[in-house]
Amino acid sequence: MLACGQPARQPRATWQHCGVTAATHSTLFPQGPGGSPHAAPPRGADAVLEGLDPEQRAVATALHGPVCVLAGAGTGKTRAITHRIAYGVLAGILQPSSVLAVTFTNRAAGEMRGRLRQLGAQGVQARTFHSAALRQLQYFWPKAIGGGMPRLVDRKIQLVAEAAATQGTRLDRGELRDVTGEIEWSKVTQTIPAEYAYAAAKAGREAPRDPTEIAHLYAAYEDLKRDRSVIDFEDVLLLTVAILQDRHDIAEQVRAQYQHFVVDEYQDVSPLQQRLLELWLGDRDSLCVVGDASQTIYSFTGATPDHLLDFRARHPGATVVKLVRDYRSTPQVVHLANGLLAQAHGRAADHRLELVSQRAAGPEPVYAEYTDEPAEAEGAARRIRELVDAGVPAAEIAVLFRTNGQSETYEQALADAGVPYQLRGAERFFDRPEVRKAGIALRGAARFGGNDSLLDEAVDLPSQVRAVLSGEGWTTEPPAGSGAVRERWESLAALVNLAHDLAAADPGATLGDFVAELDERANAQHAPTVQGVTLASLHAAKGLEWDVVFLVGIAEGMLPITYARTDEQIEEERRLLYVGVTRARERLHVSWALSRSPGGRPSRRPSRFLDGLRPGTTATVGRTGAGAGGGVERGTPQGPGAVPRRAQRVPARCRVCGRTLTDAGEMKLMRCEDCPSDMDEGLYERLREWRAVQAARSGQPDFCVFTDRTLMAIAEARPETPAELSRIPGVLSRKLRSYGTDVLAICAGHEGAEVDEDD
Ligand code: ATP
Ligand code: MG
Repeated sequence: MLACGQPARQPRATWQHCGVTAATHSTLFPQGPGGSPHAAPPRGADAVLEGLDPEQRAVATALHGPVCVLAGAGTGKTRAITHRIAYGVLAGILQPSSVLAVTFTNRAAGEMRGRLRQLGAQGVQARTFHSAALRQLQYFWPKAIGGGMPRLVDRKIQLVAEAAATQGTRLDRGELRDVTGEIEWSKVTQTIPAEYAYAAAKAGREAPRDPTEIAHLYAAYEDLKRDRSVIDFEDVLLLTVAILQDRHDIAEQVRAQYQHFVVDEYQDVSPLQQRLLELWLGDRDSLCVVGDASQTIYSFTGATPDHLLDFRARHPGATVVKLVRDYRSTPQVVHLANGLLAQAHGRAADHRLELVSQRAAGPEPVYAEYTDEPAEAEGAARRIRELVDAGVPAAEIAVLFRTNGQSETYEQALADAGVPYQLRGAERFFDRPEVRKAGIALRGAARFGGNDSLLDEAVDLPSQVRAVLSGEGWTTEPPAGSGAVRERWESLAALVNLAHDLAAADPGATLGDFVAELDERANAQHAPTVQGVTLASLHAAKGLEWDVVFLVGIAEGMLPITYARTDEQIEEERRLLYVGVTRARERLHVSWALSRSPGGRPSRRPSRFLDGLRPGTTATVGRTGAGAGGGVERGTPQGPGAVPRRAQRVPARCRVCGRTLTDAGEMKLMRCEDCPSDMDEGLYERLREWRAVQAARSGQPDFCVFTDRTLMAIAEARPETPAELSRIPGVLSRKLRSYGTDVLAICAGHEGAEVDEDD
């Protein structure tokens, strides 16, 4: 089944299968099931705007020119952009097939397609960068390069190990992972092996081995790939970029197809993806990006929030909208999320937005400490069992962890507790034998459905799907137990649910449409929701939400993970926790174990990120109170008010227009970004030069001395005394001690002697 699931070897088959041939179809990229002739009844474009708040509405109606949405978690960014596309389509302003919506995970792309279909905007392509590029590469390969596209590498790490062996190097598992990470980083930053050592040093990367050696391993890996005629994940983007760069005819063909671009989760765009986006866009400006710098969690792969934060500088006419109303989470969850961000540092943190919950109060987050990891997993499973027994749907519960290796303990514990679960590894769903078999049966029924007595009586789509799947083992009631039989049933039940969803969004959908939907999903490797608790890594949970979230393993060494060493790496780990916390709509359970195995030394302590946020701790003091607890769960639900609240702050107001400021960057400037600036440009430049010298001297990045915003604020305020300088947000007492004299001297115009010329 699902021929689109194996596109790499047979690019032509994919196109044919999807009903498109290059010669006959004027549309470059085929429509998925959204293109069905049985569309949901068209809703008025204005109806799409209902259910959006004024700022979201501003995003949805800004259909021309560049648009940038900077907003925190759960504020409706994804909702705003899907409504924007739907509004544009229904209003007749955007041609559905001319819109390309891009995001970063297959799951998120699938969600977006589903939301668009529900809004009545069929035919819009929502893809990951990778799948959009892969499709284009497959399509243009014969024309641009000739022959068939090479196969995609299945196990990159294995290939890196083999490449290392050709160099006489043996890498252990950790080194293999780190070296592979360096190769990936090099490729997304378009760094060739010969430039690796220089580029890695410039980017301040901690190379896991001697940089020259890594460069050799990288070159050997590329050679091995070439010898074996395979390409990797990054090559898909690199080659697409190369083709679009070199072949103007092909670039024009792509641009003629896609005229409007929307990017979700833009904070995680890599330089290579950004380049691809620029090539798609050409000299046009119909680009809408949304993101939250505080959710940047892929910098280790070369992604950077700079593209998001500098969007307005690159597109001076851009419409910039900020959203702070959090519709997802209760005030209790939001309070913890804001608390985490308040302790963050770095450029992303400079742009943090304080979230304001729009929901009714809910329970306080629960913190629980366990003696060891199995006890922690058991504790979580026990609580989940109670919740499920109390009527919370299992699909509304998630267990999120830092590394995939942690999942097994939780799989075991949930199985022991008789709770169904699914791993967030979407590709596995379509690889399951029962799903493949079901696909074949559905395809057959779709083709010959009219003659099949099984389907005679089944009029609507869900009934037809149920009829076909009952031949595959689907039953109305689930089988007893939680073993393999139950798992197979869950897979088939997920397909039945999907049929219901499709029929609800598109009442005229046929079995053929359903099969097309499955193909589309398999192609994007997007699994339908299985009725089970989700087990996922924090990275995989991005953009998603559940009523109840268990954040497990929140201990030093896990979060931050041991190999996060630099300040930036630690900050990224903090952002991961922020992403985890903000996935919860109502209930949040945070737990950790004091040792790995039962009877082990209780040497672990809860994550430093919780200091000052969980009850009984302060921001600077480490673990307090609870010791190891003889297998007894120590976590206790905290009553309202148990979490220490931060001191009430006087709201910051813009010193030009008086508006209340919520954006940390604007607070630092003490004015709205849009309000006229009276900054002394010359002074700002002198301060930047001085900062570069200081940063070089101390071997740290520029922003560790002062951020651009702080320098701008200084150049605007032109302080004359230490007291005036200390009033500028971002000038902490430590910085005042280290740099106060210099900065005041520069402001007074006496800086000459301090600034070296050679930096
Ligand atoms: P993330 O940063 O995690 O990706 P997001 O900003 O994309 O979050 P969404 O997923 O779009 O947020 O929205 C979060 C939740 O809030 C969703 O359940 C969405 O339906 C709901 N929501 C968003 N805006 C509104 C609104 N104006 N009215 C009611 N519900 C809303
Ligand atoms: Mg989102």
